[in-house]
Amino acid sequence: MPERPHGVPAALSSLFLQQESDPLKLGFPLKGKEYPDHAQTVRQQMTALLQERDMTARELSQALRIREKEVYEHLSHVARSALARKTKLTVLPFQCLACGYVFTERRRFTRPSRCPRCKKSHLEMPTYRIAE
Ligand SMILES: [Zn+2]
Repeated sequence: MPERPHGVPAALSSLFLQQESDPLKLGFPLKGKEYPDHAQTVRQQMTALLQERDMTARELSQALRIREKEVYEHLSHVARSALARKTKLTVLPFQCLACGYVFTERRRFTRPSRCPRCKKSHLEMPTYRIAE
């Protein structure tokens, strides 16, 4: 019999204890996103993939089974931890498919919505990579 917090009746204290337990053991499986360490796992996998080869946000979303939008959110965290390990997450140069404009100095990880030169939105998917 676990010790219950002082002054809490037995019936309530079992609830109290349940809240602090692993939700899996209680039979309330949470969706993947709600696990506190899930994001961490996704970022570790993303890091491993990007150290192996160059990948687009779409490829990452398929490999990690997350939405493309989530890929961009994780990328900024992945970039930060890459820096901590003296590596760097970079966006490789990619082109506007309409006029050939090359985005060489892209610092943000999200895909630009339009080409700064021709203003069209027919852009190649940028690829990401982690390297020294
Ligand atoms: Zn263009």
